[in-house]
Amino acid sequence: MTPSDELDYFAASYAEARGKFQLAAAKAGGQLSTYVHPDAAGPDGGSLAIDVACFGPLDAVKAFLILSGTHGGEGYTGSAAQIALLSTSALACLPGDTRVVLMHAVNPYGFAHWTRTTENNVDLNRNFVDFSARLPRNDAYLQVHDAICPRDWTDASRAAAQGELDAWIGSRGQQAWLQAIMMGQYDEPTGLNYGGRTPEWSHRKLEAIIARHLPAVQKLAFIDWHTGLGQPGQPFFLCFNPQGDASWERACTWWGRDRIESREGYAGAERPRYNGLVFYGVQRLVAPAEMTGAVIEFGTLPVSEAFEQLRVDRWLKFGNTPDDPRLLASLRSGVGDAFTPPDPGWRRGVVGHAIEIQLQGLAGLAAW
Ligand SMILES: [Zn+2]
Repeated sequence: MTPSDELDYFAASYAEARGKFQLAAAKAGGQLSTYVHPDAAGPDGGSLAIDVACFGPLDAVKAFLILSGTHGGEGYTGSAAQIALLSTSALACLPGDTRVVLMHAVNPYGFAHWTRTTENNVDLNRNFVDFSARLPRNDAYLQVHDAICPRDWTDASRAAAQGELDAWIGSRGQQAWLQAIMMGQYDEPTGLNYGGRTPEWSHRKLEAIIARHLPAVQKLAFIDWHTGLGQPGQPFFLCFNPQGDASWERACTWWGRDRIESREGYAGAERPRYNGLVFYGVQRLVAPAEMTGAVIEFGTLPVSEAFEQLRVDRWLKFGNTPDDPRLLASLRSGVGDAFTPPDPGWRRGVVGHAIEIQLQGLAGLAAW
């Protein structure tokens, strides 16, 4: 494989990514299905869809489910990871009891618009809660919401907001801050990491896709590709199996204990408790099948800068946006670079890691 091939796995638009995924899946002999969004559209007015590529028999008891684009713009990297796997020979020689299902652009609206959330500003990775029960409370987020989400994004408003956030962190501590912003919140529909009040379209389609394409699974390997946390260009694993149980130990065997048990992505702090993760949703949907897997991030920016870009991403939707088109374009491009950096070295490195990690998952599944 030449370096230019690796860069070719990345796309500059949702439509281009989708075309590359469909072509690579067809070449690899996959069965393609498409789930078109009924009303949301891309920035160019184009249609949006989740594309699914399946390999291996429908009644397979072992399966590997790989997702891209849960967080919209992070999907340009997840898509490249999936296309890289499709471009290997691995899917042509699967064991007879194994199925591989690739879901491309789980949140196609966010993917097409280079934003984290869905068409309703919902963080899909906080949306898999039980909506028939009382929704989780996050009072700490409510205390910092106004400072995280200022109406204006000027040097003066940012400095004032930062003063408030620094004071909050000074009195409550870094761990409480991490918990407040990461666990998800269900009260402020225009806020950050909003988990929604009902299942999103992408949530309901994920349920339908698992029911249709994984009807017989008993042992499921799972990867949800993300970007943002961790050292630049390096994979950071978030295994949400219970630490120490058989599924956690299995992930350590597949990918290395040092990777599964690393705290690199939180600068050494403890992992916050998350609500409503896709990981938990998939786990419930395939039960009583066993599942081993991880959310896998590729680091882009230092944590504080990545968080700043998420605030800009949210502000571009709900803030007092400036009239200056150059300023808007520069803010948008900063957000995009935080999701999927343009640096060729970063992209090549990520593809190499992604191929290795997915092949390790396949090997682990075969030995399970
Ligand atoms: Zn993410």
